Amino acid sequence: MANDLNRDVVLGLPKILLHEHLDCSLRPSTMLQFFAEDDWNVPANFPLPARTYYLEGELEKAAAEYQNFLAREASKSLANYVNAIVLHVLPLMQHKDRLARITRERVEDAVADGVVALELRFAPQLHIRAGLTLEQVMDAVAAGMRDSAIPVKLIICALRHEGEAMAERLADLAIKYKQHVGLFDLAGDEKANPGVLLWWAKQAAKVREHGIEPELHLWETDEPTDDDLVRLAEFGIRRLGHGMRGRRQEARILEVCPSSNCVTGQIRNFSEHPIDSLYREGKRVTVNTDGTLFTRSDLSNEYLLLNRYFNWGKAEFLAVNLTALEVSSFSNEEKSELLAKLKDGYC
Ligand SMILES: [Zn+2]
Repeated sequence: MANDLNRDVVLGLPKILLHEHLDCSLRPSTMLQFFAEDDWNVPANFPLPARTYYLEGELEKAAAEYQNFLAREASKSLANYVNAIVLHVLPLMQHKDRLARITRERVEDAVADGVVALELRFAPQLHIRAGLTLEQVMDAVAAGMRDSAIPVKLIICALRHEGEAMAERLADLAIKYKQHVGLFDLAGDEKANPGVLLWWAKQAAKVREHGIEPELHLWETDEPTDDDLVRLAEFGIRRLGHGMRGRRQEARILEVCPSSNCVTGQIRNFSEHPIDSLYREGKRVTVNTDGTLFTRSDLSNEYLLLNRYFNWGKAEFLAVNLTALEVSSFSNEEKSELLAKLKDGYC
């Protein structure tokens, strides 16, 4: 198997993507266009060559220059990664038309990557600085996924530093938009506000009553604790964003994002990532991208890297996709269609 996989083959394999952030996966070319529309009102550390190339009509070169800069800025720590989002990305995501376009392009890029079903997460409260309401943000993102060629569900992210009042508003928002919303997440700095936060869990219990599953980012930068295990069991949380640290995952679903862990400095390089050993131990692993803008990867590339470093082939890829399918938030009808696609693609 190792030698007959190439990018074209992997692009053609049907893949389910559970963990990707809307604000970490914009097209760099679109970002440059937005900066141009805003008269180059850019962050102080913006790389000037990207602007020069853009103004000279060298759009591909400009996009590559800018993306390479962003990947460098975001690397080495989760704090750098978050800082790059705050400085460079969020200012461009404050208007309805832009949110709709960014969403539409993200779905198109997923389709081109061979993704057959997508769960796309974001924090609506990060897009209200120019006056949009949370509902207007949701409507704009929903408009961007309206004619998508694949099933798409949204995941609403509460943030660890924000606290209960905002989490409550987001939980109500998720319930109001449950037609589009698959899950309710907790994201943000795990080091500063670690563990399964009780104020979030309270809201998570509320959304669950409305058929929306809670999940959270956990064990990306921190090791598992006894408290984590007690609370995960207490609140019945089965999906973990990342969840790759430690050996206490049990039967929980791990949304592993290998290249992202390398970019944020959690893992030194891909060959040292625990994904393969977790999988071989029988842990319930899925493969994800987290943020294609900063990793300069896509899901096909993650599969190619798994093939190169751990000799993963169709059997492993099918297994992780069946796990993803099982725990995804798509309807039963969509799931049976997706199962047929997976069988077609891998068997
Ligand atoms: Zn994430």
